[in-house]
Amino acid sequence: MNLILLGAPGAGKGTQATGLSAILKIPHISTGEIFRDNIRRNTELGKLADTYISKGELVPDEVTVQIVKDRIEQADCENGFILDGFPRTIAQAEMLEEILNASGRKIDRVVNIVIDDEVVINRLSKRIVCPVCGETYHLEFNPAEDNICKKCGAQLVHREDDKPDVIRNRIAAYHKKTEPLVEFYRHKGNLMNVRSENSIEESLQNTLYALGLKGI
Ligand SMILES: [Zn+2]
Repeated sequence: MNLILLGAPGAGKGTQATGLSAILKIPHISTGEIFRDNIRRNTELGKLADTYISKGELVPDEVTVQIVKDRIEQADCENGFILDGFPRTIAQAEMLEEILNASGRKIDRVVNIVIDDEVVINRLSKRIVCPVCGETYHLEFNPAEDNICKKCGAQLVHREDDKPDVIRNRIAAYHKKTEPLVEFYRHKGNLMNVRSENSIEESLQNTLYALGLKGI
């Protein structure tokens, strides 16, 4: 099953994707994580991406699309994949469609995670992440003792793009550029809305139900 997860930054896409990936046994492809990994390793791609991401702006389409194309052509995507953070614009969605058509594939379902802006701001401004393994924590809901990662022992950090001003920019960018995608996929007939105000667990159950997978 080829899936896309849509939703504002902080809507819980990453957590949902991780859960779905384990259940459906298909890879979770996070373009944000690919960029952050390159930034950490200070690659050419990382340096380029960082000039946009550190300001809360979107990385240009041609850069992002090439990364996604390379990734979904890998063998582990044969039975499907979950895209998280891509596409973000209509132009990207159209390019994705061309790439998939060329190999006789298509997007099966688009899960739109619906959440209020204020809930997102509260969630993200209190989020801390592990710079080594990528695990995420929340100062209120999922704290880590002494800000040390429970998985790998690294010192947790507050991501530069999780600061309130940057969050507002990210949400504004989302509304302007990404929300038209909801309409785009609604017209294609494969969009499903899932609410995400409650716990992450409950949201994941809502998504499984919407995909017709409840009980797996
Ligand atoms: Zn860690």
